[in-house]
Amino acid sequence: MRILVVEDEVKLAEGIARILRKQNYAVDLIHDGHAGLDEARSGIYDLLLLDVMLPGLDGNAIVQRMRLEGINTPVLMLSARSESSDKVNGLDVGADDYLAKPFEVEELLARIRAVLRRRGQLVHDLLFQFEDLELNPGTLKLICGARELKLNLKESQLLQLLMQRKRAVTTKEMIIEKLWGFHAEAEYNNVEVYVSFLRKKLTFLQSVVAIQTIRGVGYVLEAGT
Ligand code: CA
Repeated sequence: MRILVVEDEVKLAEGIARILRKQNYAVDLIHDGHAGLDEARSGIYDLLLLDVMLPGLDGNAIVQRMRLEGINTPVLMLSARSESSDKVNGLDVGADDYLAKPFEVEELLARIRAVLRRRGQLVHDLLFQFEDLELNPGTLKLICGARELKLNLKESQLLQLLMQRKRAVTTKEMIIEKLWGFHAEAEYNNVEVYVSFLRKKLTFLQSVVAIQTIRGVGYVLEAGT
């Protein structure tokens, strides 16, 4: 899961990023509204945490613009102002939920999970399922029947992405953007390395699931027998 945090209070933004990374979310930070909208348009995010009061373009305007452009990324709004008008505005223009600052860490995490769950990104709470596999990105545990093992963070993010795509092909470009970020300099080799790690682990677990290579395009999960 990759989360974009658009928040102009740098200290707060960095604090949120630390909390989210501890939960194994990948996080990018943006501190102004126009750049936030540009990043949101990249389509690589699973969720946006969007402050309402921002320099350039405010949070309500960003979510409104996104929805008009057909960008459906889930949005959780943050605002220091607890007036209900803020809340109504944000929700009216297409935000999924709203959290007033200051907030408790646990509440932030619960709201994020709730938004993702409502959008069907999570099967229940923090589990992804595909055929005989169950992945918990919070603990990095991959379970297959009675067997289980721990993935590293990148392996977990890669498998999550493939599981979310179900039977659609995932391109190497998508994997790089999702795992390393939009401006990263990771190369196709990096992707191939993690795919080979994951394949070994799937074999160890004796899962029916295999990662098929679609030559020149990317990868897709397939279930054998
Ligand atoms: Ca602000």
